[in-house]
Amino acid sequence: MTKRILVGNVAIGGGAPIAIQSMCNVPFSRFDELVYQAKKLEESGCHILRVSVPDELSAKRFRDLRKEISIPLVADIHFDYNLALESIKAGADKIRINPGNIKPEGLKKIATAALKQNIPIRVGINAGSLEKDLLKKYGEPCAEALAQSAAKNVRLMEECGFYNIIVSMKASSVKMTVDAYRLYAEKFNTGNYPLHIGITEAGTARMGLIKSAIGLGALLLDGIGDTIRVSLAADPVEEIYAAKSILRAAGIDKSGLEVISCPTCGRTTINSIQLAEKIEREFSYIRTPIKIAVMGCVVNGIGESAQADFGITGEKGEYLIFKGKKVVRRVSENEIMDVVKDEINQLANRKL
Ligand code: SF4
Repeated sequence: MTKRILVGNVAIGGGAPIAIQSMCNVPFSRFDELVYQAKKLEESGCHILRVSVPDELSAKRFRDLRKEISIPLVADIHFDYNLALESIKAGADKIRINPGNIKPEGLKKIATAALKQNIPIRVGINAGSLEKDLLKKYGEPCAEALAQSAAKNVRLMEECGFYNIIVSMKASSVKMTVDAYRLYAEKFNTGNYPLHIGITEAGTARMGLIKSAIGLGALLLDGIGDTIRVSLAADPVEEIYAAKSILRAAGIDKSGLEVISCPTCGRTTINSIQLAEKIEREFSYIRTPIKIAVMGCVVNGIGESAQADFGITGEKGEYLIFKGKKVVRRVSENEIMDVVKDEINQLANRKL
């Protein structure tokens, strides 16, 4: 098990629930918009939020943003170690550094300041900005180079007496990322530091979700990963929904509604696809673990329903509600959503 690190009041690693992260894409120069986006992300279920601090103005206004939200706020630093020092003074709950573009002397200064303030640092290796010596050794970015870069920079932090570390090593290649994390977890993570996992520059909402689901899914099923960020070229709120869905699909987050549904086929005589979508959307606020099977016909409908809290299938416009393998109710299309609501509310009360 990895060691537990605190980012503000959110624990990462050591068996803590996997924290969902995202990053604002509005600069500090548009402060009101930035605050609006940060609040929206907090409301959507973001546990830890990161913002870019690329210049003096951002470092100066970091404190103002910190006051506006209650989730931990992380300063993302590239190139200039002074911006990290300013962000630490401004109340950053964590610093993310990219060791590929900050000199070791700068990294040491950041570690010393973070140690004094008792906040963690993420050593965030990125395939796009690996150190020159590693690129020379391996010819191009690869899993070994990513893992070695992480190990080298973690050592550098440890040499400063700093152990409050979270590690990441991201590439836009799913395979390279997964191989790097597996290698690091197996051979290099001697300090048992928690791992922040993600596929960097994963792409648009659709393709980025698929790449992230494959990569993060593979790692999570291996038991690797203590906090996740899904990087999407989309509204960052989509990243939160994507992360939640990945955690749900990997069987890690068991809360909320799970709708099992079939693709339908020529046997279907009800609109089960539309019904499944409607139920999923309408009851997305439910946090009690409830499983509903919405199936196009009785062929697999009865079996799937038996594995769920209740099942719905139907024939010729009439909906059948199953519990176990028995039909308990027959309802019309007009009644079905009200009946589903009653069933869900009863289950939610019973499972409280
Ligand atoms: S459950 Fe019925 S409707 Fe759905 S795919 Fe199977 S046979 Fe077709």
